[in-house]
Amino acid sequence: MNQKYRQLAKLDKKYTWHPFTQMSEWIKSDPIILTRAKGPHVFDVRGRRYLDANSSIWTNTHGHGHPRIRRAIEKQLRKLSHSSYLGQGNEPASLLAEKLVRLTRKLPRPLNRVFYSDDGSTALEVALKMSFQYWLQQKKEKPRRRFLALEGSYHGDTLGAVSLSHVPLFDGKFKPLLVKSDQVMAPSCYRCPFNRAKPARENAMLARRCNWECVALAEKKLKSRKYAAFVVEPAVQGVAGMVVHPPGYLARIARTARRTNTLLILDEVMTAFGRTGTMFACAQERVTPDLLCLAKGLTGGTMPLAATLTTERVFQAFLGEFHELKTFFHGHSYTGNPLGCAAALANLEIFEREGTFDRIRRLERVLARCLEPLWNLPHVGDIRQKGLVAGIELVKNWKTRGPYPWQERMGAKVCHLAKKKGVLTRPIGDVIVLMPPYCVTPRQIERICRVIYDAISLSTSALERKLARANENDRR
Ligand SMILES: *Cc1c(COP(=O)(O)O)cnc(C)c1O
Repeated sequence: MNQKYRQLAKLDKKYTWHPFTQMSEWIKSDPIILTRAKGPHVFDVRGRRYLDANSSIWTNTHGHGHPRIRRAIEKQLRKLSHSSYLGQGNEPASLLAEKLVRLTRKLPRPLNRVFYSDDGSTALEVALKMSFQYWLQQKKEKPRRRFLALEGSYHGDTLGAVSLSHVPLFDGKFKPLLVKSDQVMAPSCYRCPFNRAKPARENAMLARRCNWECVALAEKKLKSRKYAAFVVEPAVQGVAGMVVHPPGYLARIARTARRTNTLLILDEVMTAFGRTGTMFACAQERVTPDLLCLAKGLTGGTMPLAATLTTERVFQAFLGEFHELKTFFHGHSYTGNPLGCAAALANLEIFEREGTFDRIRRLERVLARCLEPLWNLPHVGDIRQKGLVAGIELVKNWKTRGPYPWQERMGAKVCHLAKKKGVLTRPIGDVIVLMPPYCVTPRQIERICRVIYDAISLSTSALERKLARANENDRR
């Protein structure tokens, strides 16, 4: 086994290049090489078992290797594994489109059309180009070149998606290559400049004192110029650090977007398919966007597939005689991939057949209860949870909410310790992310939270000792 590990790790380090990874560190490290997975567990080539507390980077829904999804892929593989969606339709793509449209029937206004692509980034890319071209094809409209997005928003890594994002660490270098997009204050209550009040624990109090300055700022922006679209991750901004929006925010900004005649793009790449408790997060505020982007959990975490859903109004703007060139000139070679669509159909079927939403509701309460003790740790500044998504924000100073020096990589240290105890997750900066698949048991949630508690406790006290020693040396 160890020989196999050495061989695979050597090949990995010699020939591959990992995403968002400083490879000089990776090459010196002892990376986990996975070979199989089942339910909430993944197994590495050395035979070690880990609880997947990160749902394989937010993609997995019902657990690894769910037999229903596996069988659907196998069955489709025997029939048709790929065909071009450019020129042909295929069976699972038709069925899935109808299914997705039907799921949006519960929203106040239906979404009627499904445009397939491969990843979250491409779903956003489609939304960006679609909304831009939509305005080009409106009579009496000047081209709208600018987009509005929230501070800290993340919408993917292709250039269009990076343009919509505002993560300083990622988009800084690429600025010269990007299309123009403005940012507006996000409803990040823990660091709200208007209300230096409370972490999420005292949210009720916060809600009473909140004057929705963030909504007013968005409104001001939307009135200041004609944006092509306002793009928002509803309910939870993932990469921003699992920033859970206060209830009411989405409904308010959706109203503002409509009143100012701006298209609303909702990026539900992370939040959809049960992650926040419902099929789509926007349903919780009775909001329908003009464009809805789906990916990650769409296939239950098995195949890369994405979809951009839109309204009849947007779709109609692209109809005309061929020579009018209103066609949406966009597509990929794997658009509408039958294996992905078959996996997605099976994934959606499981929600109905296995009472998944009831299960998520129960697990959500278990997670909340298990996170409660973490508030007692002196360096836990905030704990934010929505559905089965949680972010635990570590701070140097609980009172001032002052962060650790980023070079210390506190979040990474905690996750490294957790990994040694068999719990796999990734931080975002100093926010520890917990996002287990829906097949976890209450006991496994307890275990995850206990391991994270210990890892935070150990890592923060080690760093405090180190910082104290450095301080003392300075004084000498
Ligand atoms: C992950 C993510 C994306 C990008 O999706 P990829 O499949 O990684 O391209 C976009 N938006 C949000 C909100 C995400 O979480």
